[in-house]
Amino acid sequence: MTAYAGKVLWVDLSLGTWREEVLPDSFYRKYLSGLGLASALLYREIPRGADALGPENVLGFVSGLLTGTGSFFTGRWMAVAKSPLTGTWGDANCGGTLAPAIKQCGYDGIFFKGQSASPVYLYIGPHGPELRDAAALWGKDAIETEDELQRLHAGKKKPAVACIGPAGENLSLISGIVNDRGRLAARSGLGAVMGSKKLKAVVLAGSRRISAARPLQMHRLSWSCRRKAILPIQFPNSKAFVLIGKLVSKLPFGFTFDGLLLEGILAKWGTPGLTPYGVETGDTPFRNWAGSWKEYPTINQVTNGERLLSHEQHKYHCYSCPLGCGGIVSLGVQLPESHKPEYETIAAFTALIMSRNMEAVYQANEYLNRAGMDTISAGNTVAFAMECYEKGWITPADTGGMELTWGNDAILLPLLEQMVKREGIGALLADGTRAAACKLNAQSMTAAVQAGGQEIGFHDPRLDPGMGLHASVEPTPGRHTTGSQQYYEMYHLWKRVTAAPQPAFFYSKASKKDTRGERITAAVANSEFQQVYNGAGGCMFGMLIGVDRVPIFEWLNAATGWDYSPDDYMRIGRRIQTLRQAFNVREGISPMDLKVNKRLYDFPLPEGPNKGVTFDLEAMMHAYWQEIGWDRDGGAPTPQSLAELDLTDWVEA
Ligand code: SF4
Repeated sequence: MTAYAGKVLWVDLSLGTWREEVLPDSFYRKYLSGLGLASALLYREIPRGADALGPENVLGFVSGLLTGTGSFFTGRWMAVAKSPLTGTWGDANCGGTLAPAIKQCGYDGIFFKGQSASPVYLYIGPHGPELRDAAALWGKDAIETEDELQRLHAGKKKPAVACIGPAGENLSLISGIVNDRGRLAARSGLGAVMGSKKLKAVVLAGSRRISAARPLQMHRLSWSCRRKAILPIQFPNSKAFVLIGKLVSKLPFGFTFDGLLLEGILAKWGTPGLTPYGVETGDTPFRNWAGSWKEYPTINQVTNGERLLSHEQHKYHCYSCPLGCGGIVSLGVQLPESHKPEYETIAAFTALIMSRNMEAVYQANEYLNRAGMDTISAGNTVAFAMECYEKGWITPADTGGMELTWGNDAILLPLLEQMVKREGIGALLADGTRAAACKLNAQSMTAAVQAGGQEIGFHDPRLDPGMGLHASVEPTPGRHTTGSQQYYEMYHLWKRVTAAPQPAFFYSKASKKDTRGERITAAVANSEFQQVYNGAGGCMFGMLIGVDRVPIFEWLNAATGWDYSPDDYMRIGRRIQTLRQAFNVREGISPMDLKVNKRLYDFPLPEGPNKGVTFDLEAMMHAYWQEIGWDRDGGAPTPQSLAELDLTDWVEA
């Protein structure tokens, strides 16, 4: 008995057929499961230069190695494909209940090739996989689709459903895949890949037991994690974070932050609890990343965490998560039930566009969840459009009279609707900022805050340059969840991993801009670790509690029966990261072209906590490439590194 199913499902949508592929134990030892398994299979199956919206692209749904084994914070699934938004390796991560459902169907991953001539969905029930007609579902939003499919396939256990809404059907390059009534695997434009395949949904109703090689050890580890990973005190009121944030921004030095405190915030408020701290410290961007909270001093009243909690009906937990950072909110008849907006969505539709209307945030969140459009990319795109309108690059004639002025929340829903439907000005904006700027004019590219085509999550690299570095060097560019200096501090990797440097408790703020030394070594360790926990199905928030409290390496051994050291797992992480980079290089991507917009590292703000900050991002990127074993100048994995990581049999020379 072990934690992985040992096989994956391949569905050919052009032919309407399916087959299983058995993978040997050596494959899992080399790539883990989840993201690692996907990186190996997609590298093998997607031909060089494949059209991301064509039949040759492969769309995968993968579960983690630890999912369902009795470990905590390990119920995340990932969607993977070549991204139509960036042309690079694409992935998107989501919680909910789909991750165990994949394994309960007997697979570690489900992969789709080809394109169906008409809408279909995949149903896996007691009689195995079946492709069924989805014509009647095409055009429905994601929640209507999920409700309908769960009604159709009602049984002893509610099936898990992942589907696209109208944004994916309309091939918006900023569309995602939706599960659990409005949670999105939002990034990389993978909703459009699903739409291009005419695959409306996957419906999973398997009942296979998932087990661990050493169940008693799993149990002991999880018991001890539960004791260590819960903050014993509760924060009284989110207003405290305004004061703490103010203090932190004024300190002449930085300090390492303990993830247990973050966990306390997430357990009570969810990610919105981070907003006041983000505003005060300079993490939260304003006015399309070119302003500061000084232009919008009432923002903490608008986004007030206690007001948000007053709408919360109950907490929402992903599978196997003791923390439960999500929430279901209600605003009465206008919005009877909806997922609580995440920090990213609140930042997008308040600070970034200078809006003072939280009601509009709830409505936008619900609309985009149903439509299946990424709120990070959509928010950046609305802010981009407002800046273009201010500068005269978009005119009232282009918008049909809609006034795209800063803070005009009245246009938010109509504009998002146009983007989802590709109507009016929405036709220009439906594919995100880079695509819109390419159609508008060269100057407007300065306002397109993205990396390699993907819009950036709302954590300003001028506060944490590591955020800009990771968004630029990771094979899936533009992601805020891939790494940062602060994440590294919270992972506590040095307590388990030999090469991971221990940061000083107090450090100079200037050291955050270091272009060599421990900051770069730490960034590489961060990347490696992220691949490991994405192979395990781990949630980043859980991992931020620290590997000394959340025993991911020990769980992996107990679940699989292996006896790898943390260093061995980090080497696997480097292998996965390198394979994904090799995918990009094979696609003809120049890694330096994935750098974040200059606004995030060479655009000194005139005021606010990040006043005057710039840093040398390119030097950091070169140093990272060298440290991880890629070509220092160009960013391609070197032959020596491929050999050391045992990848020469897999990667084309
Ligand atoms: S911490 Fe939040 S996002 Fe992570 S697994 Fe738990 S509920 Fe899901």
